[in-house]
Amino acid sequence: MVTTTFASLGLQADLLEGVNRLGYEQPTPIQAKTIPAALSGRDLIGLSETGSGKTAAFGLPILQSLDLGLSKTQALVMCPTRELAVQVCEEIHRLASCLQGFQSLPVYGGAPMGRQIKGLRSGAHLVVGTPGRIIDHLERGHWDVSAVRMVVLDEADRMLDMGFKDDMERILSALPAEGRQTLCFSATMNPAVNKLIRSYATDPLKLDIERKSMTVESVEQRYYEVRSRSKVEVLSRLLDIQPIKRGVVFCNTKQMVDDCCEALLARGYAADRIHGDITQQGRERVIARFREGTVELLIATDVAARGLDIQGVEAVFNYDLPYDPEDYVHRIGRTGRAGRSGIAHTFVYGKEIYRLQALERFIRTPVKRTPIPSAEAVEGERADRVYHRVRERLEEGDFVGCEGLIDRLLDQGHTPTDIASALFSLLREADTRSMEAIQEDREPFKDKVASDKPAGKKGFGQKGYGGKKGYGGKPSFGNKPDKKPFKKHWESSGEAKPKPKSEPKPKRRFRLPE
Ligand code: AMP
Repeated sequence: MVTTTFASLGLQADLLEGVNRLGYEQPTPIQAKTIPAALSGRDLIGLSETGSGKTAAFGLPILQSLDLGLSKTQALVMCPTRELAVQVCEEIHRLASCLQGFQSLPVYGGAPMGRQIKGLRSGAHLVVGTPGRIIDHLERGHWDVSAVRMVVLDEADRMLDMGFKDDMERILSALPAEGRQTLCFSATMNPAVNKLIRSYATDPLKLDIERKSMTVESVEQRYYEVRSRSKVEVLSRLLDIQPIKRGVVFCNTKQMVDDCCEALLARGYAADRIHGDITQQGRERVIARFREGTVELLIATDVAARGLDIQGVEAVFNYDLPYDPEDYVHRIGRTGRAGRSGIAHTFVYGKEIYRLQALERFIRTPVKRTPIPSAEAVEGERADRVYHRVRERLEEGDFVGCEGLIDRLLDQGHTPTDIASALFSLLREADTRSMEAIQEDREPFKDKVASDKPAGKKGFGQKGYGGKKGYGGKPSFGNKPDKKPFKKHWESSGEAKPKPKSEPKPKRRFRLPE
């Protein structure tokens, strides 16, 4: 498998640094295809789902095209919902963390006009908005769109379904046509989308992610519906209910690898991590310890784990669902090697289920939906293990030297049953981890996004949008220079990550004798 890197896509250095700060190690398939084509100036239509990484696929080319010395809107992104508009604006803003002076502005219905007008007048370089509100601003005439050179229709099929066709056409007609680049993204290709893009784009390049299917044999595949905040707890339960000697946990970003590893260490698991910011030497050390069994859980990104050949991996955990189905196949292929059977556990939530369905088509195998083990089941399993250990020890008869202690307790009037019960409870305590409640939200697939529907503008909160934190009153996002929020010193040096002072002392995990 040839790996495309962000560096090979033609992006400028400050954008590559922005991507690196976000912890992205490799482009998703839609990014690998779209970014070079968009940078070449072509109009295009990309077929991709939400969650495929399409925001960066158009966001990075937009950022590269901007003249930051010119205080005028140069790029416009249309989104079907205000929530998506905010998300897109946030993501592009994060990608632009190394661009000095970049200004972006989300415009959507339900929020006060005044601040948006101020942001448009001050010449935000990028505007992301819902069609209804964009029209409102265009009609009031306070927004200079003469410098707009890039337009993105995000989720074009959805905007058409929601009745935004006329608004979109009005907006596209109001923007300069000369020298304009139009990018369209859609989950499906239907005649309406086709007609729209043919009318407003020039010779658009169609980008589709088609792949030959791949299969994985001898790996049992399960998935669990897990919210982000419960992932560590669910992973711990799976590890506790079926202890393994060697497992690999895959995450999509370097940041997530660090967070996951830290959380597992804090819970007493023998875990370590590898990713692109850890030196080759550091990675080799970790892998050697994983091979010899000192490290039971290896937390890794796809890039860092590529080419790893380690025998005896009993389980693979997809802590994050990969963007590329091929990565999934490579990940789970690390278990079940050499004729042995292995197990792959995948965590998904919400709309990720659509990506999982696409994955199932790709591997031509269903992935079994599996309930999260309950706290009682995990406790029961632990109790069973203690029982079997005691029974084995009794059968071996290997407990010479304990009689004196037992006699002392008997002399004090304790019954043999009480003594045995106390010993059992001590053994169980040593193997017990306090379990967290799991947030069970039974509506994960429902699209709860408020829509900016044109018909009567239904769904608009009169009280204003209470969306993501940080967006409340601020209409625009000016970048402060030299903001380095993500890089930590240990990430580049390959050193072990220091533990926060307040972190609780890891509880020693009770290991069963092998
Ligand atoms: P999108 O489809 O743009 O909404 O992206 C879905 C999620 O994927 C967002 O949380 C992004 O931050 C994340 N993401 C996008 N590109 C990458 C990448 N190359 N590697 C890891 N995560 C990514």
